[in-house]
Amino acid sequence: MNAPRPVHAPMTQFPVVDGCLSIGGVPLPVLAARVGRTPFYAYDRVLIAARVAELRAALPAGIELHYAMKANPMPAVVQLLAGHVDGLDVASAGELQVALDTGIDAREISFAGPGKRDAELRAAIAAGITINLESFGETERVARIGDELGLHPSVAVRVNPDFELKAAGMKMGGGAKPFGVDAELVPELLARIGSLDLRFRGFHLFWGSQSLRAETIVDAHRQTFALGLRLADAAPAPVELFNIGGGFGIPYFPGETRLDLAPIADNLETLLPQLAARQPQARPVIELGRYLVGEAGIYVCEVLDRKVSRGQVYLVTDGGLHHHLAASGNFGQVIRKNYPVAIGTRMDSPATETASVVGPLCTPLDLLGERMALAVAEPGDLVVVFQSGAYGRSASPAGFLSHPACAEVLV
Ligand SMILES: *Cc1c(COP(=O)(O)O)cnc(C)c1O
Repeated sequence: MNAPRPVHAPMTQFPVVDGCLSIGGVPLPVLAARVGRTPFYAYDRVLIAARVAELRAALPAGIELHYAMKANPMPAVVQLLAGHVDGLDVASAGELQVALDTGIDAREISFAGPGKRDAELRAAIAAGITINLESFGETERVARIGDELGLHPSVAVRVNPDFELKAAGMKMGGGAKPFGVDAELVPELLARIGSLDLRFRGFHLFWGSQSLRAETIVDAHRQTFALGLRLADAAPAPVELFNIGGGFGIPYFPGETRLDLAPIADNLETLLPQLAARQPQARPVIELGRYLVGEAGIYVCEVLDRKVSRGQVYLVTDGGLHHHLAASGNFGQVIRKNYPVAIGTRMDSPATETASVVGPLCTPLDLLGERMALAVAEPGDLVVVFQSGAYGRSASPAGFLSHPACAEVLV
């Protein structure tokens, strides 16, 4: 049997004008001239705002949306999102400064991460944000630093769930984890929090990331609500924040399709009344990174050379894994698969050639597209890697081989 070859989900978010991809209404060659150099990342502000609006329309009213900044910490992107979401989740003091600069209310910022240094905790307490506690030791440090500063730190407990989901992409819950406090130890931690000078705000229940299966997320939400409500019975104060994590994925690879929000929304409609009945002050929060920004961004590099090695066409570009580790397949992928790639300056030309897109680094890992069907490209053409708005520039080893850093623009 000849199964159909899996293809990428169609990338229709950016229009094509005169054969060129257009971002935020700017044709790619014009945008490249405006940025002044290649390679660069470009993010479309209209698409980011539309994604938040689409989510709000799909999900039950009352669900709050937070942006997990580590997906894309570009200050302009964070500033834009601060005006559209209900809160920001930071993972370092560096991200915290960017979040505070947006002017968002500090009470709507939370700080997660397994290794927060004292200086970071000090900054977080001084700013008045909510610290998601990841351990007993961290709890004691937060209380001590709060005493030293004469402030009452706001805290939530990050829970390492006691369930694990079979189909989640990156597993971050269940079993032994460096993240959060094991669910079975949380009651003991809650008692300790109650005895310290800490302001308890709620729970952060993070179960996974990059899921494209609605059933997995529905299952996770059911178990998360059950666990969170059970733990809330031992809380030293009413639960205000009931953060049920994120996990909404976007299609990167051939055969992947977009997440269906409808079953997730229907399920939440049944879960929310349970929360309202048992913890009336609780605000349910979903925190998302890549789902908000991933599809709104592209990575653009220029073809420097075109060569043929033993019958195989190579497009050698000025971009590569030092700017876009994930597209090279080296950011957590087990088997390398191609991101969606196109020749952004020849969008009307048929993809008649099989070519590999490589970068300038002297390593076979520096591969942006392996044997892909592409339009015939020449030096000077611009290669586009789609689905690049999250875990791109900031998640790449920019110093590797000492090439110039890439630019970034919000259009
Ligand atoms: C990374 C992270 C996220 C965002 O994950 P995405 O897959 O980008 O949505 C959300 N919450 C926490 C605690 C994280 O560490």
